[in-house]
Amino acid sequence: MVKRNCNIAKVKGQYLFPRIARYKAELLKREPSANVISLGIGDTTEPLTPAVAFGMKEKLGALTTSEGYTGYGEEQGDRELRQRIIDDFYPNMFEPEELFIGDGSKPDIGRLQILFGQDVTISVQDPAYPVYVATSVMMGQTGNWNEKEGLYDGITPLSCTPENNFFPDLNRAKRSDLVFFCSPNNPTGAVPTHKQLQDLVDWARANQSIIIYDSAYAGYIRNPALPRTIYEIEGAKECVIETGSLSKLLGFTGVRLGWTIVPKELCFDDGSPVIDDWRQVSCTFFNGACNLAEAGAKTGLSLMALPEARGLTDYYMENAALLKSAMVDIGYEVYSGDNAPFLWVRFPGRDSWEVFEELLNKKHLVTTPGAGFGASGEGFVRFSAFGNREQIREAAARLAD
Ligand code: PLP
Repeated sequence: MVKRNCNIAKVKGQYLFPRIARYKAELLKREPSANVISLGIGDTTEPLTPAVAFGMKEKLGALTTSEGYTGYGEEQGDRELRQRIIDDFYPNMFEPEELFIGDGSKPDIGRLQILFGQDVTISVQDPAYPVYVATSVMMGQTGNWNEKEGLYDGITPLSCTPENNFFPDLNRAKRSDLVFFCSPNNPTGAVPTHKQLQDLVDWARANQSIIIYDSAYAGYIRNPALPRTIYEIEGAKECVIETGSLSKLLGFTGVRLGWTIVPKELCFDDGSPVIDDWRQVSCTFFNGACNLAEAGAKTGLSLMALPEARGLTDYYMENAALLKSAMVDIGYEVYSGDNAPFLWVRFPGRDSWEVFEELLNKKHLVTTPGAGFGASGEGFVRFSAFGNREQIREAAARLAD
């Protein structure tokens, strides 16, 4: 018999979303005709934009001819697409060599853990997207699950609550090698200001830490005064790896495409550039993104097509506004919804799984219990604004009922 990987064995219970799916399945077993609306996992519902469809169709047409067929592409991703992403989101900040196209942010977060191995310490925003913690547990960077602390031993939580304006107290935070930070944060929707991000970068540089910055929802930031990428901050190139995604920007949750930027300036303690090792890891564990996805991304992100992408995110932000207004009207304590497609709602004194079950069983609404995102998420529930308008209106009506 083969010995089980003890690090994977350490992962506590089921990953959040399978557990939610199980509760939903149990409800449907009891009440097969229940019209359940999902405001849970946060999957996109609206169709691909015409520009994306055009690029994909063209590429598909080419692939079915001898002259137009292409096999493996550039391992780091189509160069023209890399330049387009830089032009759209990081104008004049990087060379295409510093950007790596992948099959989404989540797989890149996993591969980044391989880059750093098991001998690093990590800090993570609390609450945060569970994948940061889960991948570091599997990599062996942590101790066991500590029931009393509600966290794995060895991980430093950076608590983000309404009391600290969802930005951690860096003066009291312990140093770690890696710091996972997400803006807009999933689940709180919080977006740090330039000043806050400058403090974070200064703190990381003083501690010689590396920040893994997840900007998967940057396309939802509506306040022009807020930073869309951490590279707007002085000194960030020396201490940050940023990962981005087309999942929520262009509805690519099923198509799959994302990217990671590793600036040339970022070095390990021995002076060697991180980008060299990332090229090695990324090009060994991954063989280039799907060429149809790249073709759709290229046309979907062209300057002329950007208003279509904006239309998609506007649609979900209108959903967020609709849900938020219904909740505020009935007296819910709602955070976010202005620069992110989530509502982070506090139910003071309540257990978040209990509120989740109540919303599921009484209103037939699937949400996500805040505790699933970290100990500081206890007492909160996340409502996702992804969904078609009719369902969102129905969900708002059920909440008000
Ligand atoms: N990062 C955050 C914060 C997310 O919430 C998600 C998906 O929900 C991802 C990354 C995953 O992105 P992708 O679909 O590109 O893998």
